[in-house]
Parts: sequence; structure tokens; C-alpha cells
Amino acid sequence: MSRTKIVATYGPACEPERTFKAMLRAGLDVVRLNVSHLDPERIGPTVGRLRRFAREEKLPLAVLADMPGPKVRCTECEPDKFQLSEGDRIDLSARNAKSTPREICIRYPRLLDDVRKGHQLAINDGLVLLEVVKVDPKAGTLRARVLAGGEVSSRKGVSFLHSTLRVPSITPRDRRGLRAAAEAQVDFIALSFVRSEKDMHQARRILGGYGAEDIPLVAKIEQHEAVDRIDAIVGASDAIMVARGDMGIERPLEQVPLLQKDIIAVCNRSGKAVITATQMLESMIENTRPTRAEVSDVANAILDGTDAVMLSAETATGRNPVRTVRTMTQIALAAETRIDQRRILEIEYPLTRRADLDDALAHAACELAYDTPLDALVCLSFYGTTARRVARYRPECPIYVLSPYEAQCRRLALTWGVEVFPFAKARPSRSGKTRDPEHLIAPMIEALRSFGRLRPGQRVAFLAGIPLDRPGGTNWLRVVEVE
Ligand code: PGA
Ligand code: MN
Repeated sequence: MSRTKIVATYGPACEPERTFKAMLRAGLDVVRLNVSHLDPERIGPTVGRLRRFAREEKLPLAVLADMPGPKVRCTECEPDKFQLSEGDRIDLSARNAKSTPREICIRYPRLLDDVRKGHQLAINDGLVLLEVVKVDPKAGTLRARVLAGGEVSSRKGVSFLHSTLRVPSITPRDRRGLRAAAEAQVDFIALSFVRSEKDMHQARRILGGYGAEDIPLVAKIEQHEAVDRIDAIVGASDAIMVARGDMGIERPLEQVPLLQKDIIAVCNRSGKAVITATQMLESMIENTRPTRAEVSDVANAILDGTDAVMLSAETATGRNPVRTVRTMTQIALAAETRIDQRRILEIEYPLTRRADLDDALAHAACELAYDTPLDALVCLSFYGTTARRVARYRPECPIYVLSPYEAQCRRLALTWGVEVFPFAKARPSRSGKTRDPEHLIAPMIEALRSFGRLRPGQRVAFLAGIPLDRPGGTNWLRVVEVE
């Protein structure tokens, strides 16, 4: 399997048990439940079902519940998709009715108050562009002209390029979603259209109300304002998604690849996992093989330093979900052979005099892994911090994480290159005393050997933060030869 983590969006195309299990075998690490489309009430049962599939396949799986945020959408379409052509005229309304080629109904009650003549709207990831030519309050419609034609289908997102909408960051649907995600104990929660770090704090407070404040939060960077506040948002989040779909509407399209590189760099520097998302293998929704441009895009995202790559409609509604995951794995495996370790260790993230001990130790372990070389880096990690510190340098040898807590393990599912194994022996003793990692070396080797991971004669570095049950530290490093 690839060391780059693969996120796939759940939907009708991967609902059959056989399909989903085949996706797991093809390298799927994290399944994304898109709460824009999945009813919050369905989160619990769906999580239960998919986790059962993973258990039956004896493969790890983490679940990410993705909250829609204040994204405005059109209603169901009738027919379920239709084309608009440049020059067409069409009505827009806020009526609660099906959208048709004559009238697109938009789920935003203040549509007529907040949109003016001359404002532009984009539907379906910016494919269809409309300009409002007349506001007709009596009829309750906006008359629009199609500037760029394309397909409209049920519940597609509508972006307002000029209007300022009055929407809260966390909508009532998000609240229902947060509650359901908390109850289902998902592994990650993503928030869409984050505008500032305050949105992350607010979500965490809401989750706290359900006793779930420690579920890792992913901020989706897609809104204009978020790009400008990236450092603060990264600081307040556990992971980041470069949400290129909406970003490419909110910002000039040609900026997307550059923003992707910048955001990934910020995340790598702060040891936060980053997902690159949207249209990665788009043509595989229909086709059995991706375009060359798509293959290059996936490979380049990995070379930019992304931890994870994401599939959206490719797996949710596409014709070839399993094949798409398999293709993703193959592209990742090839790209990973080109990750330039020397460059990362010496040029991109060299040790500076101001480095703290924790980072210095992780850096040193990766230097050792590169120079001596080592056969594996093993992190005895309760909260995943040590593992993320090490993964940032993209060591060529495997990174194994041993953790006594299963839920904590699953949160590493978005972090590049780490493989997690349960390790109950690291739990505090019955009297509550934390263990000494020195005494755990032999049991760790034994555990990894039982999972088929280490062989006699291999040289391995062990890392941990002492005391083991305190989060955040990395202050212990031992190199051992496996006997
Ligand atoms: P979405 O987020 O698929 O939920 O819109 C990703 C993106 O905007 O790229
Ligand atoms: Mn989006």
C-alpha cells in the first residue's frame, strides 16, 4: 500500500458491501461521509456498517464526517440533470420546489434581498456562471443570463461571487451533523468554509457539549478569508484540507496550485496532516483510466508534501470506485520513490539553533535513518505527536506506531507514512504508574514481529515522550538491533 493516505468519499457507488471491501483492499485509509448529501441521522448506522466491513477485512479504517458549512445549494432537479447554454435566460428563486431548466430554486431564503442586478452566481463548482439581469420581487424571482453553460444537477452548490450572504459559520444542519458525528465517535470532523480560527473553537465547544471535544478537527480551506488567516487556522486545527473545488471559485483558478503548495508547506512545518482534495481523478467518474494531467496532479501533490489525497465523486457516484482507489495507490507508490529526503532534512526543514528538543530528536532519528541507514522508526505514541513529528521528514524506512489506545491510533490515519498497531502493554500499571519505555523495548519488538514487521538483524530506532501518558513530548531515542 502507499504511504500517502487515501481518503474516499462515501456514496451510492460504494454502498455495496463487496465494493467497499474491495476499496479497503485497494488502499483506502479514510472514508469521508459528506453531510451535504448524507442525512445526519444516517451517520451513526453508516459508521457502524463501514467499521464492521473494515473489521471483517482486518484492515484499518478511519471515518471523517464532513460538515457542509454555510454552502448554499439548489434543490433537487427535474429532470435530474440538465444543460444550460451560454445566452440562455433562466429564473432563480428561493421557492421550495424542484429545479427545472426554467427555474432554479436555491436554498437561501434571503435570495432576493441579498442578490442585486449585475451580481454573478456560479453553480456546480463554478462550471455554470450566471449573471442577474433583473430582480423581480413581485414574482419572487431573479432573472439571470447564462454567461458560461454546463450541467446542473440535484443539490449542486451555488456560489455568490459578489453578494454578501448573511449566514452563520455553523448552520443548523452542521449542528445536527456534529451531534450525530459525536455520538458515532467518528475519527475526524471536517468543517467547510471556515473563515477564521474562531469557527474551529466554536465547533470544539459544541462538541464539548457532547463530551467529544477531542475528536480531531479538519479545517477546509476554501474561503477567501481562510487563506489569509491560514497560520491561525492551522494552529487551531488538527488537520487541514486544501479544498480546491470551492477554492477555485472563491479565488482565481490559476492561484489554486500555488495556494496548495503554500498551505501544504505551512502544515508540514507545524506537523499537521494535510489532505489535498477535489477533482484528483475526476475523469475516472466515467472512464477506466485517468488523464495524464490527473496522474501528474496526484503525483505533484505528493511531491508538494501532502499527507493524504482525496477522492470525491470518483468514489461516491463514479462508475469505477475500486479501480479509482487502486489507481490512486499506484500513482502514490510511484511518486513516493521520488521524495527527496536529503532535501527535506537539510534544506526544507534543517535543524536550526532554535529547534526545541522534541523536533531535534525527531530530526536526528530521521538523519540516522537516512545515514546509517535504519530499517524502521518505531514511535511509542499515545497521542500521535511523536509520530507526526517524524512523518514530517518523510523517512524512507517504515514508521511504525505502537499505541495502547485504539481511538488515538485512528487519528493518525491522515498522517503520511505511519502504520499503527495496538500495544496494550504501554498502558499505565494497575497502580497507575507510567511505564518506562526502556522496559518496553523487548515487548515492542515482539509485538511488531507478531504483526510480521521486524526481522532479526534489523536496526531500529525507538522514539517516545516520557512520561508516556503526557501528550506532546518527544525526548527519548534508542537505537537497537533486533535479535
Ligand atoms: P466539498 O469540499 O467537496 O465538500 O465541496 C471540497 C472542495 O471544495 O474542494
Ligand atoms: Mn467545498
